[in-house]
Amino acid sequence: MDFSLSDEERAVRDTVRSFITREVMPLEQEVLRRERAHQPGVTRDELRELQQKAKKFGFWGLATPEEYGGMDLPAVMQSLIWTELGRTFVPFRFGGEADNILFHATEEQKREFLLPTIEGERISCFAITEPGAGSDAANIRLAARRDGDDWILDGEKTFITNGNDADFAIVVAVTDREKGARNGGATAFLVDRAMGWRSEFIQTMGEGGPASLIFDGVRVPHRNILGEIGQGFTLGMEWIGKGRYTIPSHAIGIAERALQMAIDYANTRETFGAKIGTNQAIQWMIADSETELEAARWLVLRSAWTVDQGMDPRHASSMGKLYGAGMVNRVVDRVLQIHGGMGYTRELPVERWYRQVRLYRIFEGTDEMQRLIISRDLLRGYTKIGGHLA
Ligand SMILES: Cc1cc2nc3c(=O)[nH]c(=O)nc-3n(C[C@H](O)[C@H](O)[C@H](O)COP(=O)(O)OP(=O)(O)OC[C@H]3O[C@@H](n4cnc5c(N)ncnc54)[C@H](O)[C@@H]3O)c2cc1C
Repeated sequence: MDFSLSDEERAVRDTVRSFITREVMPLEQEVLRRERAHQPGVTRDELRELQQKAKKFGFWGLATPEEYGGMDLPAVMQSLIWTELGRTFVPFRFGGEADNILFHATEEQKREFLLPTIEGERISCFAITEPGAGSDAANIRLAARRDGDDWILDGEKTFITNGNDADFAIVVAVTDREKGARNGGATAFLVDRAMGWRSEFIQTMGEGGPASLIFDGVRVPHRNILGEIGQGFTLGMEWIGKGRYTIPSHAIGIAERALQMAIDYANTRETFGAKIGTNQAIQWMIADSETELEAARWLVLRSAWTVDQGMDPRHASSMGKLYGAGMVNRVVDRVLQIHGGMGYTRELPVERWYRQVRLYRIFEGTDEMQRLIISRDLLRGYTKIGGHLA
């Protein structure tokens, strides 16, 4: 058994680490200052500029196929990179990416939606959640009704990331209520903002925020259907599946950085004439955090490896998402505790992480949904205890 990284993985990881350290981390204080003033930490132009700089280092389209100018990296490599991105709280990600399901587009749709998204000229959002359908996504109600060569969309989507900035939305709508969303009754549409939907920003405990999208008789041409009629729910699950290893990979980077801050603080802060790190209470918080971090790392890397092996990654990635999201919440909570009152201030990024990572247990499948998937697979005998080693 070999737990080491290959030379290539290590080289890529180190290059990303040095890019993040030199080009992105120096922006951290300014990001905190702007966010305290209720402004976006990084503007769209600044993000694009950084992404272009990263492109010169060779980082562009981590998951994007080479024929579209991307790197098409294996999942393990992507996981390692997402971990590096997690080490800074600057909202930076590499450019050259598009929603995975946009690659199902027709040639015409690719020109109109996919290519400009990869180039960063257009912003997309993906919308399946509704006020009455989150975990139970098959219960969506936003209806698409055929009218000649068009479809008319009526209803509301909610909690849509990028919903306020997006130029177009990938919307999963009900096209056949009789069949139900899960059984071919839902279809994905590519809907330009110019077609008439509007968005309303939702304030959350995190920075930035999702939006509600309101469709009031929005007319969409038939040619804007993504994939096949009736394929919407399947595409939706494919879109969500991507986050199952990127989110916990990011969580690992956050936990690594935060834990190092706690260790540094424990080695310098003194109370009662001694460093706080000499107290067993503090040592145990550090030990538990490192142990859980390490456990999450292998769970998540294994789930990414499963993708690269062409195996069904759902069971492993649900375990990685469940454990990784919980781990980062527990680690950041301990890190905040170790910093005492300072941890609670906005001088440090710890309280920011505390608010940010709470989301990781909710979006792209809540803890409870991950548990449901993991146990269902076992109860039905679809997966054996021990996975591929069983
Ligand atoms: C910041 C943010 C960004 C998001 N971005 C997007 C996006 O880009 N696109 C998009 O489509 N959606 C997005 N979402 C929506 C997100 O995926 C949903 O919020 C999530 O799936 C949970 O759905 P819900 O909020 O309706 O909660 P509910 O489904 O109402 O669940 C409420 C609680 O009940 C639990 N629960 C539900 N059913 C069961 C059950 N059977 N057994 C046990 N427990 C259960 C849940 O786990 C949860 O704890 C985003 C949400 C947030 C907060």
